[in-house]
Amino acid sequence: MNQKGGVGKTTTTVNLAAAFARAGRPTLVVDLDPQAHASLHLGVDPAQDQPSVYDLLLDPAMDARQAIRQVSKNLAVIPAHTDMAAAESEIASAPDRFQRLQRSLASLGDTYEFILLDCPPSLGLLTINGLAAAREVLIPMQAHFLALQGVGKLLETVGLVTQNLNPRLRVSGVILCAHDPGTMHAREVVADLDGFFEKARADEVPWKFARVYRPAIRRNIKLAECPSFGQTIFDYAPDAPGAADYAALAKVLLTDWDAMLARLGEQAPAGAFAPAAVVIPTAAGAKA
Ligand code: ADP
Ligand code: MG
Repeated sequence: MNQKGGVGKTTTTVNLAAAFARAGRPTLVVDLDPQAHASLHLGVDPAQDQPSVYDLLLDPAMDARQAIRQVSKNLAVIPAHTDMAAAESEIASAPDRFQRLQRSLASLGDTYEFILLDCPPSLGLLTINGLAAAREVLIPMQAHFLALQGVGKLLETVGLVTQNLNPRLRVSGVILCAHDPGTMHAREVVADLDGFFEKARADEVPWKFARVYRPAIRRNIKLAECPSFGQTIFDYAPDAPGAADYAALAKVLLTDWDAMLARLGEQAPAGAFAPAAVVIPTAAGAKA
């Protein structure tokens, strides 16, 4: 999540999901943005007459599997719907309005090892539904000073969600997108972020173990081209730097994840819906 638009949320969701799938991990993308960019990027037409996240939000009793579209081996998507903004007003007064997605996805059990939720550029009802359903928050951002300002508000929102809706939610870290490592400016912003998270180690906050992930995703025109072909970077330009960066980042995340499961003695990963007792990361896990 990141309430700022154009920071790399969708690019990261789609290409990380594709990297997980290629590593043999069954992965589902849930497109929570009414712009449906993730659906389109995966080559799925968010047709008006097909079940979408919109239907799941309106009717949490609906079987989420009805809305799943298989993209390729190990990779599926629940598409968005351009009318989804309307869902916000339709369920605005429902007492369970923040937990509808969580309830709906829970019915998937452990079909998927990873469920990646692509959030819209806002902190509204759709994003809160995502936060209520998730166990980890990844923050894609570009290393600009102005981008830092939004991070405070974002973390505050996550804090409120952990207090009121989803106590197990944790911020895992920042993913640097369209990164230009050569500029002094970018290096300063990254140093600020590193310092901020380092300080948070002493506090009981949901970002206590968060970090800035390496590698950063370099600016790469191929990443900007592939959505219009409905392809992930691995299909569109497998030799491009963008493919190498997302593959390397996926490896880091998978290593963390596997280490955590091993430490917990868990076998089959239960995705976002493991009991709370097994999902609280420890310091060792965050550093693994
Ligand atoms: P968000 O989902 O946060 O709005 P997107 O993932 O859609 O952001 O990215 C915004 C724009 O930047 C898109 O046109 C996308 O193709 C482009 N983009 C994202 N990451 C990169 C990158 N590493 N290099 C070049 N262009 C990128
Ligand atoms: Mg997006």
